[in-house]
Amino acid sequence: MQRPLLNRRLEGLGTTVFAEMSARALATGSVNLGQGFPDTDGPREIARKAADAVLAGQGNQYPPGPGIPELRNAIADHQRHFYGLGYDPATEVFVTAGATEAIAATLLALLEPGDEVIALEPYYDSYAANIAMTGAERVPVTLRAPSFRPDLTELEAKITARTRLILLNTPHNPTGTVLTRDELRKIANIAIKYDLLVVTDEVYEHLTYDVPHIPIATFPGMRERTVTVSSAGKTFSFTGWKVGWVTATPELVDAVKTVKQFLTFVASGPFQYAVAGALKLPDGYYERLREDLKKRRDLLTAGLRDIGFDVYPADGTYFVTTDIAPLGETDGIEFCLNLPERAGVVAIPSALFYDDKAEGRTKVRFAFCKRQGTLEEALKRLKVLSP
Ligand code: PMP
Ligand code: GLN
Repeated sequence: MQRPLLNRRLEGLGTTVFAEMSARALATGSVNLGQGFPDTDGPREIARKAADAVLAGQGNQYPPGPGIPELRNAIADHQRHFYGLGYDPATEVFVTAGATEAIAATLLALLEPGDEVIALEPYYDSYAANIAMTGAERVPVTLRAPSFRPDLTELEAKITARTRLILLNTPHNPTGTVLTRDELRKIANIAIKYDLLVVTDEVYEHLTYDVPHIPIATFPGMRERTVTVSSAGKTFSFTGWKVGWVTATPELVDAVKTVKQFLTFVASGPFQYAVAGALKLPDGYYERLREDLKKRRDLLTAGLRDIGFDVYPADGTYFVTTDIAPLGETDGIEFCLNLPERAGVVAIPSALFYDDKAEGRTKVRFAFCKRQGTLEEALKRLKVLSP
């Protein structure tokens, strides 16, 4: 029998739901509260920097492999300014094609077939795919409703001789959970006790509402075993630019670099100049972004509750997680597939991010990084679901 075309490790991973649901939104004229991207671009002066870079011939040819020095310096300054973390821009900061590539390159670099990766479930979809590509196995620690806090006794119990790393995401997509100092300290202690690496996806680092974001690399003994990933997409509302980065020790950066150079080699030349400029924006920029998104979160949360959804409080990210059971619904995937026709709205079935299907079945994610008018229109349309 002929073997299937697709590498069997990737069987069942299918098309990324975000692209599929955005295409559905376009095709049906639905309000898109699915894929997490803002419907307003970031600061005009930063867009201008990108345009100027193109016209000035900055980054139109292959930029340096690790990223342009201006950007690496700006990332190092950002880590020091916000978190007191010192990274050498020459050897410990490395630019990638978005956080997506940073995560892929890191996992491909650090994992071998048979390794186990402990990750917080529900998982961002690319984690499952990247882990599968390496031949390693994911081992979930499920964030369970209603609190979506990790059970760290369970996490420790799941460590085996094959565990290679802990993959974190804080603020967490899709639940909006932001790991607390106490949780992070416990995870750090476990990583040290069992000599594990930590990969932490912090792309929503500036999108927290009344709680602090704390990088796990700030805990004693963690900087040397942690690869921190972030990107400009969410922080500056330019998700299409795909400028991401890792900060880690020179040895870890070298490992990531070995893979990254054979994935894209380099990317986003002129945008690297623009993001270097964006990282120099004053603190007020980040405060306004947070305040603005918090208002949208509150608007969407209250509106969805009025309609009859159970809505779980989100301390961070662009997303609120809901439960559709109170609406008499029993299957989030079915619900999201039918929602464009029923209500003219697109949302994401969180079930796709769970191995524990029972836990995910009726959870649905809505993005609130949209204009007030967009959110109001979506809520108006969703009223047809009211029991
Ligand atoms: N990690 C998480 C948790 C995300 O939600 C996203 C979505 N953008 C990414 C990584 C990818 O970021 P980027 O667009 O910079 O590749
Ligand atoms: N991170 C975005 C989300 O969670 C989507 C990015 C993507 O489409 N890969 O919706």
